[in-house]
Amino acid sequence: MRIHAIETGRVRIKQAQIEGRGHGLWRQMQPMLSSEWADWSPVYAWAIEHPEGVIVVDTGSAAHLKSLPRWHPYFRFAVRFDIEPEQEVGPQLRHLGIGARDVKIVVLTHMHIDHDGGLAHFPHSRILASAGEIARASGVTGGLLGYLPKRWPNWFVPEPLAWQPAAYGPFATSARISAAGDVVAVPTPGHTPNHLSVIVRDSDHEIMLAGDTSYLESTMLNGTVDGVSPDEVVATATLARIREFCTQRPTVYLPAHDPHAAQRLREYRAVGGLPPVTERRFVSVAG
Ligand SMILES: [Zn+2]
Repeated sequence: MRIHAIETGRVRIKQAQIEGRGHGLWRQMQPMLSSEWADWSPVYAWAIEHPEGVIVVDTGSAAHLKSLPRWHPYFRFAVRFDIEPEQEVGPQLRHLGIGARDVKIVVLTHMHIDHDGGLAHFPHSRILASAGEIARASGVTGGLLGYLPKRWPNWFVPEPLAWQPAAYGPFATSARISAAGDVVAVPTPGHTPNHLSVIVRDSDHEIMLAGDTSYLESTMLNGTVDGVSPDEVVATATLARIREFCTQRPTVYLPAHDPHAAQRLREYRAVGGLPPVTERRFVSVAG
């Protein structure tokens, strides 16, 4: 199995979105109110070359995101995109020799605009997302919550993922993506209430394609909730569950916007593999 990190342009958000500040509604308002922009972050989509066919996780950003509805305070004050059409996921996959018909399945960790932005490139694929996320992102309410359902391709009918009562490590439920069971989805609620992550089991490593579960590996390790998660308790519990998973198996943790994600994938560097000083306490707990 080979996994490709596909950088679909860059996004700029506020530091208070990457690391939530304060609590409750105050925390959720900071991405709009704060004037402190973070550095530009990559927007990764992932392609898994699997014997059953290519599986794509998230579709990344798209050039249409350079123009966003001005009436929405989040779009207006809290986010900027930098991407050209040739940086979208479709052209980059073709460059790797992967055509649209080679992609059997697309899994969306959630349906925020920089994860479903490249949907138009996958008219021939099954597109899976959690039922709750599909409902949340749809219609007028979806628009108010910062989704862009009006920009979905008109053929787009996402397939709700069927969760099974099959534990995967500390995750109580899971859903097989590949028939072989070596690519599974697990629920990672927090950033959105029905956010999911995809885990690829590759011999002695687990590769966790974590979407926006956290923006950085470090914020997962130190349990820092981001600035957009609606429920801080739920998000904190998910970060703890991921840390527990990482103690059980060597895990390469790959959030969609972590500037070091592609490098960690290249080096197959598991959490705890090369611990910075600040993370050593966690690593020693992990044994
Ligand atoms: Zn998101």
